[in-house]
Amino acid sequence: MTVTRFAPSPTGYMHIGNLRTALYSYLISKHDGGRFILRIEDTDRERLVEGATDVIKSTLKITGLDYDEGPDVGGEHGPYVQSERKEIYMEYAKKLVDMGAAYYCFCTKERLEKLHEEDATGGYDRHCRNLSREEVEKKLAEGTPFVIRQKMPLDGVTSYTDSVFGEISMNNSELQDQILMKADGYPTYNFCHVVDDYLMGITHVVRGSEYLTSTPKYVLLYDAFGWPRPNYVHLPLLMGKNADGSVSKLSKRHGAVSFQDLVCDGYLPEAITNYIALLGWCPKNSETEFFTLDELKAAFTIDGVSKSPAVFDFEKLLWFNGEYIHKLDDDRFLELITPFIKSEIPENVNRTKMFALLKTRISKLSEIDERMAFFISLPDFDKELFLNKKNKISDFDTVKAVLTEALPILNSIDVFDNDTLFTSLMPLTEKLGMKTGAVMWCIRIAVSGMSATPGGATEIMEVIGKAESIKRIEFALNML
Ligand code: GLU
Repeated sequence: MTVTRFAPSPTGYMHIGNLRTALYSYLISKHDGGRFILRIEDTDRERLVEGATDVIKSTLKITGLDYDEGPDVGGEHGPYVQSERKEIYMEYAKKLVDMGAAYYCFCTKERLEKLHEEDATGGYDRHCRNLSREEVEKKLAEGTPFVIRQKMPLDGVTSYTDSVFGEISMNNSELQDQILMKADGYPTYNFCHVVDDYLMGITHVVRGSEYLTSTPKYVLLYDAFGWPRPNYVHLPLLMGKNADGSVSKLSKRHGAVSFQDLVCDGYLPEAITNYIALLGWCPKNSETEFFTLDELKAAFTIDGVSKSPAVFDFEKLLWFNGEYIHKLDDDRFLELITPFIKSEIPENVNRTKMFALLKTRISKLSEIDERMAFFISLPDFDKELFLNKKNKISDFDTVKAVLTEALPILNSIDVFDNDTLFTSLMPLTEKLGMKTGAVMWCIRIAVSGMSATPGGATEIMEVIGKAESIKRIEFALNML
């Protein structure tokens, strides 16, 4: 059975790159009907941010990446928060010492600092690597603070095969005797994630490519314990576009890069999920880029993951989001848009009609106030706006004629809906010898004050109602 995990460190908001890792990890297990585990990696106590675990959990919930095991849902491999598993790591570290693959190091902070001052890149000089058993026991008995380090092979090469990047090799001489257990009794990420991945039965380790070159150290741990190595699936880098056209690692300077910020900015979770699924993965034999989560589960295979960096394109996301919004049913749209509405909508405005018109014209929910402002009150506009080459309106008298004729017609209409308005105004075209487009242009500018609007003249009038429509036409006539 395929078992994957998402193992975030609760150090802040949910970066889009982290969400992509969670998504791919989820899809890889779910494609095979496997299990997906959430594990919180909080052993770096200095980087913890309060509330970050809740953000992680709520993001997974909102995006539908349901985990089969995890901190709040439990499971046979718990606890799922590393700080609650401290004893386990110490036990395994000691095992490793007994097996000769790790050692106690009693070097003081001062000694290590001095080493660093002498040679900043040299790393640890393996001073304690060959202490005798008696020396170690004596120091332990005296209560000397210690760390446990991994005993790296001094020569040879360590290799593994990554499912995306292929064979990765590292000369063992380049590997530091890294710390596995810290002086505070907490393990390092380098150690505990290996122990947990093994104990939790993880078959595929899915994570960012920044771990590609540290993984030789991790496979040495698996080998030392005699555990079978998992499959490694490192994901391509996520880049952002810079103003000068170059790209660099996706970060805040490229825009909103946390899931929460994007949602607050009016992006739909399902659009975000769909879009990031494509950042590093390409569906096979697919005509479409639109996938529900279930469709992604069915389509997602590791061989579709690319090793080339993926560029996060905000414009593409915006387009995606628009497509998702346009397809929402009206009730759902209303439900989603409501929290974004800051302006007061007056009584005369037909909300249902207005939202139906706006739904297909907005790309993100936060555009709503700006887009509906002209329904609420007529914006300032210049009468030059009436003149229009395409509709052959080159003088204000033509406009005046249209509006003057339209006024009594509008006054006479009882049921002020789109169809009635349209059929009632149609005879004007013949009377004035003008094309429908030209007549409607004049009326639309008068009732909206804008050259481009969601909806045509009659649809806008239906939204703002009879009194307001007439008021706006009279205002235009005065202005002319
Ligand atoms: N806690 C690590 C991180 O957030 C996890 C890396 C991994 O998945 O192994 O980067």
